Amino acid sequence: MVIGGGLVGASFACMVAQAKMQAPLRILVTEAVASLQASTSFDARSTALSYGSQQIYHGLGLWNALSAYATPISRIHVSDRGHFGAVRMSAAELGVEALGQVVENQHLGVVLTQALEQSATIDYLCPARVNSLMPLPEGAELEVSLPQGGTGWVRAGLVVLADGGKSPLTTDLGIGTQVKPYEQRAIIANVAFSEPHGGVAFERFTDSGPMAILPLSPLQGENRGALVWTQPAEQADTVLALEDAAFLAALQQRFGYRLGHFVRVGARNAYPLSLSMAREQVRPGLVLLGNVAHTLHPVAGQGLNLALRDAEALTHILAEAVAAGKALGAMPVLQAYEQRQRQDQSVTIQFSHYMTRLFSSPHPALVWARKFGLFSIDLIPPLKREFARQAMGRADREVRRA
Ligand SMILES: Cc1cc2nc3c(=O)[nH]c(=O)nc-3n(C[C@H](O)[C@H](O)[C@H](O)COP(=O)(O)OP(=O)(O)OC[C@H]3O[C@@H](n4cnc5c(N)ncnc54)[C@H](O)[C@@H]3O)c2cc1C
Repeated sequence: MVIGGGLVGASFACMVAQAKMQAPLRILVTEAVASLQASTSFDARSTALSYGSQQIYHGLGLWNALSAYATPISRIHVSDRGHFGAVRMSAAELGVEALGQVVENQHLGVVLTQALEQSATIDYLCPARVNSLMPLPEGAELEVSLPQGGTGWVRAGLVVLADGGKSPLTTDLGIGTQVKPYEQRAIIANVAFSEPHGGVAFERFTDSGPMAILPLSPLQGENRGALVWTQPAEQADTVLALEDAAFLAALQQRFGYRLGHFVRVGARNAYPLSLSMAREQVRPGLVLLGNVAHTLHPVAGQGLNLALRDAEALTHILAEAVAAGKALGAMPVLQAYEQRQRQDQSVTIQFSHYMTRLFSSPHPALVWARKFGLFSIDLIPPLKREFARQAMGRADREVRRA
């Protein structure tokens, strides 16, 4: 049973449904929120899918539908406002078609939800909130609010908790979380500008926090991008409340003119930012996946990409368990998953955390370190390749294949 039909829960359920299992599994997905726009996954944000994630959706037969909405990233430009040094990476230089693909979350929502609804092996209950979870020696029993009203009970051999970063169920289970607040909020909005983006994703580090503009396909002739602008928590409300013209002027001043003039901004939303990691990711009959397991800073664009690799690894381990006649919720099975993903999680979380910390600090020593860092990454090809491999979600897939 999968609790949460958001980005991670829905993707994982599709992976299990498509996996070659020696005995068929019954999969139930419960999603609390009926409207895509009101969901914490499928709101007005956009996601940079790494090359690795694109391959995963391709393998699931969903890339054809998603590619209609995807904008390829042909180059990444990383810079530090007010300081010399920038990294430029291009797909051509690395011998790939695109460094990643940007898809608006609402389109991901439409394609994933349709896949859940159309799958012959998945029962999709929506809106259906899981209210409580009682662990059993093999699996768990759950109380669910049913779409037609009233509540029902479900017994499952394995529960995959993919209910997002604010999970009352993990609190009820006594699963603690280690939280490092960034004291920042991310303001997101779609913005229009005068010059074509040419497929470039911009990451820019400023003294008030990092910002990113991801390329989106033009709409009604306007050049568009998805802005993620981190602000010190105490300033975010002021920036959110600015009139559009003042917001665009502040953005122009921080970002510069690489995209020409900013001409329009869409609806703005803010997200509080922290690095949070569950202290336990597996228990007998239970696995935590996605934001409930680890929530990362969004600027490095790694949260969903890492969670998809976790989901893929868990699917492989479950297929092996089925083939060996083992119970899906048995602790050795789930520990094998945890062990398989430990290094990938640790490297990705550190990459995203220290990049954010390094590039948010006005401390002179760190200003020098990043100036040197950007400069040397750009000049030393192996360093640059390593940086690109991590950002593209390729490093771990290559290690696994080897
Ligand atoms: C501004 C921003 C930009 C980002 N950009 C990127 C990016 O470019 N690349 C990238 O890889 N990652 C990015 N991320 C991270 C990515 O969005 C997250 O990794 C992803 O949303 C996690 O999805 P999730 O399914 O774990 O959680 P959620 O998105 O929170 O989904 C949880 C789902 O569970 C449902 N639910 C909750 N409780 C229950 C219950 N009791 N019963 C049933 N259902 C329940 C909710 O309704 C929801 O649909 C970004 C994040 C932010 C904030």
